[in-house]
Amino acid sequence: MIIVTRPGVTEDELDEIRERVESLGLRTHVSKGENRQIIGCIGDEERLSSLPLLGLRGVEAVHPVMRPYKLASREFSANLTRIPLADHTLGGSSTVVIAGPCSVEGEGMALETAGTVQSAGASAFRGGAFKPRTSPYSFQGLEEEGLEILARVRRVTGLPVITEVMDTRHVEAVAGHVDVLQVGARNMQNFALLREVGRVHRPVLLKRGMSATVKDLLLAAEYVMQQGNMQVILCERGIRTFERATRNTFDVGAIPVLKEESHLPVVADPSHAAGRRALVPPLAFAAVAAGADGLMVEVHPRPEEALSDGEQSLDFAQFRALMRDLVPFAAAAGRPVATTANPSRQ
Ligand code: PEP
Ligand code: MN
Repeated sequence: MIIVTRPGVTEDELDEIRERVESLGLRTHVSKGENRQIIGCIGDEERLSSLPLLGLRGVEAVHPVMRPYKLASREFSANLTRIPLADHTLGGSSTVVIAGPCSVEGEGMALETAGTVQSAGASAFRGGAFKPRTSPYSFQGLEEEGLEILARVRRVTGLPVITEVMDTRHVEAVAGHVDVLQVGARNMQNFALLREVGRVHRPVLLKRGMSATVKDLLLAAEYVMQQGNMQVILCERGIRTFERATRNTFDVGAIPVLKEESHLPVVADPSHAAGRRALVPPLAFAAVAAGADGLMVEVHPRPEEALSDGEQSLDFAQFRALMRDLVPFAAAAGRPVATTANPSRQ
């Protein structure tokens, strides 16, 4: 249930509405718009039937929320969620590019890649320290050492850094080293992990599971938000279908659907969708045309030597070419690329 207040509602009126709703055992969440506020009510809505909500001072309208997700739904929030990432904002009017290697393989390659993607116009750096690999014999990531390297990249370049967390026991350490916590496709329904990242004060980039529907993704976001962390970024990275020509099937339609259903920013990962570097630029353009707030792209100094996802990683020249072509394309789509304000910080 959402309660929409009258324009100019007072703080006292707002408090009174909340107290009455909470006295029935429901939780409230207030989203402040320019004139009106939206009070979301979460819990057993049957109980609200005993409350003459429309008779309370300051109340203009009351609407049921039909969606199974509440906090993540578009109607629950008066505004679109904007997530600051250093000098830029995800969910604003520009396209934010996050780039870096699949895995952090060492300090040299991480710093070299970060400097290159920054000067090409990326606004954030990605790199995995804990890697979810299909085979236990594949490279698993540098783990804690990888986190130290990411913290150093952050200090040296000033770029915000994003990395995956796979285990509830690592959430605190990861949050202590980087700006954004990634929950990977394989963990999208790891409910203990979702709850744990919901308790930290760091944005969470939540990747769509390989066999997850849009609804499943939004309910996963709801797990994080229910714990108090409203800074969730949704990520479309392709889903598994019968098609074998691409690593995953990029569900470009999910981007406008997510934007319609939710107030949360949406990022697209063309690299994991494509599986081959030649397909990364066209999928990146498709994502921007579909309204993505950002892109996350894998880049490696020598993709042929990469310890993970080399086939889908762009080399430096390819990433520069992508950025060069993306800048006019995104501007024409009305979402100019947010370029790094101060690339000389590297
Ligand atoms: C990654 O970002 O490197 C990754 C493992 O992604 P996904 O969880 O989407 O497979
Ligand atoms: Mn990868």
